[in-house]
Amino acid sequence: MSVKVLEFKRPDEPHSAGEAICTHCKHEWVAVAPAGQRNLECPSCGSARGVFKWPFGPSVGDEGYKCNCGCEDFFIMRRGLQASGTVFCRGCGTEATGWFE
Ligand SMILES: [Zn+2]
Ligand SMILES: [Zn+2]
Repeated sequence: MSVKVLEFKRPDEPHSAGEAICTHCKHEWVAVAPAGQRNLECPSCGSARGVFKWPFGPSVGDEGYKCNCGCEDFFIMRRGLQASGTVFCRGCGTEATGWFE
C-alpha cells in the first residue's frame, strides 16, 4: 500500500496521480497510486492517512467544510441498522454535524 515503492504488475494498470495531503500531519506531496486506492502512505510521517486532493478538493472561492481537528475529508457511512447515513471525519473519526447551520 505504499506510494513510494510503486510497481505496476501490468503496464496498462489504471493509476491515479496528483496532489495528495496527509490527514494526519498535513504534509502535501504529489502521489501516484493504483486507481481506487484510498489510503496513501505519507512520505513525511509514514502513516497511511494520505488522500488525493484532486479532483475533490475545493477550488479557490469555494467554501469547504472542516472538522475541528483540521481535516477536510469525510466519509459518509451507514452503520449497522441505521436508517440514514452519517458523516464521519476521515482524520479523527468523529461524527460530523452542523453542515448547513
Ligand atoms: Zn503525514
Ligand atoms: Zn476530525
